[in-house]
This record gives sequence, C-alpha cells and structure tokens, in this order.
Amino acid sequence: MGQSMVAIVQDDCTGCDLCITHCPFEALLPLAVNPEGRTKAKRPVVVVEAQCVGCLSCIGSCPTDALHEISVPVSTEESPLLNPSQPPLTEKVVRWKKRANRWA
Ligand code: SF4
Ligand code: SF4
Repeated sequence: MGQSMVAIVQDDCTGCDLCITHCPFEALLPLAVNPEGRTKAKRPVVVVEAQCVGCLSCIGSCPTDALHEISVPVSTEESPLLNPSQPPLTEKVVRWKKRANRWA
C-alpha cells in the first residue's frame, strides 16, 4: 500500500485560498508570484511536498475540485517524500494574529 499525498491541478485553482486553513501542517501555501502564461488573475495555491503528510483533511475544501489525492509508493526512489523537490517560492500566511486566517 502506498502513501497518500495531495496534488493541485493549477489550471483548476482560482487562488481563492479556501483550502489553506484546512491543512493542519501548513502544506498548502499561495505561490509568491502568478506563473507566466497563467490565464487566471490570482496566483494558485501549491502543495509544499515536504510538509504534506497525506492526512487528506483538505480534500473536499476546494469548490473547483482542484485538490485530488495521489498515491506515492513509499518504496520507490521516485517518491517526492524521499526526494523532495526544491520548495516553491510561497507567500507567508499569518494564522494566529487578530483578523488572521484560522484553522478550519
Ligand atoms: S493532505 Fe493533509 S497535510 Fe497534505 S495538504 Fe492536505 S491537509 Fe495538508
Ligand atoms: S480551494 Fe481550490 S481553488 Fe481555492 S486555492 Fe485551494 S486549490 Fe485553489
């Protein structure tokens, strides 16, 4: 049995940020800049692979179904859990101050 993780289809992500507070591990963060060529005005949210534990708490929080489960076999050398890619440049999300985003 493989390990679960979550991936985001960037074309389906509107950047609404609703999913961010559904992740207890701060693995869902907005990209710092909107990628060149993107047709949507707002930058997408990405999964920071090194922080995603595959708990799937975020699945279902996305109104456009951009979040989906992926299976990562733990034994493979290709696993992003074993070989995390360079983390993307993301914005900081303030969760605990007054008027900040909070946990779901
Ligand atoms: S699966 Fe869990 S750890 Fe991974 S992004 Fe979703 S809520 Fe966060
Ligand atoms: S809830 Fe869905 S559309 Fe909104 S930021 Fe998250 S992945 Fe993107």
